[in-house]
Amino acid sequence: MAWDFETDPEFEKKLAWMRDFVKAEVYPLEVIASEVDDGQFLRLIRPLQEEVKRQKLWATHLPPDLGGQGYGQVRLGLMHEIEGASQWAPIVFGNQAPDSGNSEVLAHFGSAAQKEKWLSPLLEGKVRSCFSMTEPNTPGSDPTQLSTTAVLDGDEWVINGHKWFSSNGMIADFLIVMVVTDPDAAPYERASMILVPADTPGVKRLRNIPTMAGEHERFGYGHAEILYENARVPQENLIGRPGEGFKIAQARLGPGRIHHCMRWLGVSRRAFDMLCERSLQRQAFGGKLAEKQTVQNWIADSAAEMQAARLMTLHAAWMIDKQGPGAARKEIALIKFFGAKVLHDVIDRAVQLHGSLGYSADLPLEEMYRHARAARLYDGPDEVHRQSVARHILGGYTAPEGIWPREHIPTRREAARRKFAELLEHHTANL
Ligand SMILES: Cc1cc2nc3c(=O)[nH]c(=O)nc-3n(C[C@H](O)[C@H](O)[C@H](O)COP(=O)(O)OP(=O)(O)OC[C@H]3O[C@@H](n4cnc5c(N)ncnc54)[C@H](O)[C@@H]3O)c2cc1C
Repeated sequence: MAWDFETDPEFEKKLAWMRDFVKAEVYPLEVIASEVDDGQFLRLIRPLQEEVKRQKLWATHLPPDLGGQGYGQVRLGLMHEIEGASQWAPIVFGNQAPDSGNSEVLAHFGSAAQKEKWLSPLLEGKVRSCFSMTEPNTPGSDPTQLSTTAVLDGDEWVINGHKWFSSNGMIADFLIVMVVTDPDAAPYERASMILVPADTPGVKRLRNIPTMAGEHERFGYGHAEILYENARVPQENLIGRPGEGFKIAQARLGPGRIHHCMRWLGVSRRAFDMLCERSLQRQAFGGKLAEKQTVQNWIADSAAEMQAARLMTLHAAWMIDKQGPGAARKEIALIKFFGAKVLHDVIDRAVQLHGSLGYSADLPLEEMYRHARAARLYDGPDEVHRQSVARHILGGYTAPEGIWPREHIPTRREAARRKFAELLEHHTANL
């Protein structure tokens, strides 16, 4: 039976390089980011991106024939665990959301012309993209209710609708917009994805919505509210075939979700390291915080939960590698809501242990905490993932016949008496 928790030595060397590189080169970016403008920030990250490319660690989320390095999701998980610890590392490694998910869409479903025009510059880091699906007027949890439309007029699609929380919408060069192209089709066949250049007349980028993430959503990296008013794009900008929007979304969101979960492992680990270090540093009531049982419980519980999240994430990644995102739907949904809670709880304990310092912006914990809250919402709220897991599991069960549960002891006793009746009678007769 093949069952292995080892990382092969060659790949381990790459991971070791990444750990050193992220700590030495990317962590310092975090504390300088608030003091530089967009142009200066790009100047700071360009040489780091070049170094990552030299190491052949750029855009590793895609297979080689699609422009990536072909590492697969498990190795990617181990890499994202390192990158995820810093909010700027994914940009340095060319696989930040939402560009990484959008490049998956184009790589797997884009035409040759679309790949040349949009995917190649995206993978080279020359342009930025946005995925524009959620609307203020319909529930994002139930996207069958989407209301933004695209109607074919001659050889152009005419798009009308209102979107929001389109991440990176204000700075994107192009947007992948989820639109209803056939309102009369079955619920999951009504929608399509269309490529919309950001400078298309009728695309009105209203604002970055102020959020809990606060001013740290810098350089335009926020969540945009966008109006599409008679925005016209060529017919060939439709991705795949009309009505394939949900099919493509599933392929996009599966890997996209697991990549988030992988990054959360890195964030949790960083908060956990801070929790442990501070517990050994701070003294109160005659001893170190590390000597208090409550703190020991926090450390042990965090370690157990992080280990569970890590194994669940890597297992879901392994399922995607072996059988594709469709087969791993339950595993991805499981870790999406479980991982978000672990992320939140570990950061929360670290904040608590640091007291007022933990609440202050003198430590990265408060920022981690604000970002962690969104994890329970984006790419589907917890409740929807729990519902999907429960439905999947319940699909493997049937209701027992009659009025009693299958394990009802009096009923089972009766059945057992009948089963063993002959032996019991024989024994009694011989007494
Ligand atoms: C930081 C961030 C980034 C985002 N980035 C993007 C992006 O790039 N592109 C994009 O298109 N969207 C993006 N979103 C939007 C996100 O995908 C949606 O917020 C999400 O799908 C939920 O949709 P909604 O906000 O409309 O909430 P609603 O659908 O209105 O749901 C509200 C609440 O209802 C409850 N609920 C819903 N369904 C059920 C159920 N079946 N059972 C029990 N309770 C339920 C849940 O508690 C849920 O949180 C982003 C959101 C955030 C916070």
